[in-house]
Amino acid sequence: MPRVSALDMPDVPQGQLPPHLELQRTRVLCNSDAPIHTENIQYSGAYASMGVDNSDGLNKFLSNFKVEVTKLTEEDMEFDMVGIDPAIANAFRRILIAEVPTMAIEKVFIANNSSVIQDEVLAHRLGLIPLNVDPRLFDYMSENDAPTEKNTIVFKLHVRCERGSPRITVKSDELKWLPNGSEFVLATEKQGSNSTAKPKTYTSFTCSQDTMPEFSSNPISPKYPDIILAKLGPGQEIELEAHAIKGVGRTHAKWSPVATAWYRLLPEVSLLQEVVDERAEELVKKCPAKVFDIEDIAKGKKKATVARPRACTLCRECIRGDDWEKYVSLRRVKNHFIFTIESTGALPPEGLFTEAVKILEDKCESLLTVLS
Ligand code: SF4
Repeated sequence: MPRVSALDMPDVPQGQLPPHLELQRTRVLCNSDAPIHTENIQYSGAYASMGVDNSDGLNKFLSNFKVEVTKLTEEDMEFDMVGIDPAIANAFRRILIAEVPTMAIEKVFIANNSSVIQDEVLAHRLGLIPLNVDPRLFDYMSENDAPTEKNTIVFKLHVRCERGSPRITVKSDELKWLPNGSEFVLATEKQGSNSTAKPKTYTSFTCSQDTMPEFSSNPISPKYPDIILAKLGPGQEIELEAHAIKGVGRTHAKWSPVATAWYRLLPEVSLLQEVVDERAEELVKKCPAKVFDIEDIAKGKKKATVARPRACTLCRECIRGDDWEKYVSLRRVKNHFIFTIESTGALPPEGLFTEAVKILEDKCESLLTVLS
C-alpha cells in the first residue's frame, strides 16, 4: 500500500499558495475594528510544506522592484515604490529626515537687539530658515576647524525702525550674504595693537565665495524671502551676523532637508457583491474621499463602482454600521509604497532621494567591510 504523507494535499496546487494564504502574505486586511495580517512573512521556509519558496534573492528583487514617479514639482514628489520590504522603505524615510545634510544657521553674533524678541528666540528662528544652497559644495566643520569659505556661509542682518515711523516686519529677505566672510572684528583685536594689518574677524576666508563658479551667477540667499523673523517698533533695531554650517537632521531638525518624508501602502478597495439603487447612493455618500461612483445599469437601475481606490484614506466609514463589511473589502498591498517627499528647498526632492540612496549604499558597504 503506498504511503500517504501528512503534507500530501492534492487540492493545494504545488509551487503556489492557496488564495487565502496568498492574500494573507501580500495584503493587510482592514476590518472595521482593526487591521489584520499586518506582519511581513520573512522566513524563507515559511511555506516550505506547500512547496513554495519564500526566500528573497537579488534576482527576485530585481525582477519585482520598480519605481514610478506620479507627481513632481520643485518642492515635492510622490512616487510608487513596488516590490520592496517595509524595513528598506522606512530606512529611506529615516535617512531623508535625519541623515541627508543641508546648510543651516548655527551661530548668531548679535551686536544689537532692542526688539521685543529675545536673542535666543531670534537665533532659533534664524536657524530654521531654509537656505538656497547646495550642501554638497561645502565641507563639514568640526569644533576645532576654523570657519573658512569651504565650510561656512555668513549673512548679515541690520534693520532699524526709525522714531516716528510705523512698526516694521523683519523678514528673511533682510539676510544679506557676505561672500567675504564675517565683518565683525574679534573682541581681542579691538583691545589690541595699533597695527595697520587688516583686523581679524570671526571667519578666516582666503577668497570671496562669489568668485567660486558655483556661486558667481547664483548668489546664496534664504530659499523663501517672506519668513517673518521679528517686528520692530519705532526706535528698535537688530544688528547681527548669522553663520551657517553643514549638518544633519539627527543633530538638530533645522538641518533636516525635508518638511516631511512619509509613505502609505497602496489601498485596494473592492466590492464583494453588487451594491445597487439606494444602497449604492448611500455608499457614495459615506466615502469622504470620493472613492465610489454610480453607474447606470439597464432599466433605470444604478450600481456602485470603485472609481478611485488610490484616494482611499482608510477611514473605514464605508464598512461601519449594518452589514457593510459583507459588501466592501478594504485592503493594503504590503509591498507597494506610495512615497511622498516634501523638500524644504535646499535640494529638489528627486535629488534628496538620490542622496538617501547613496547614504544607504555607503552604510551597506561599511557593514560589509566590518563583516569581511
Ligand atoms: S475607507 Fe474611507 S476613504 Fe476608503 S473607501 Fe471607505 S469610506 Fe472611502
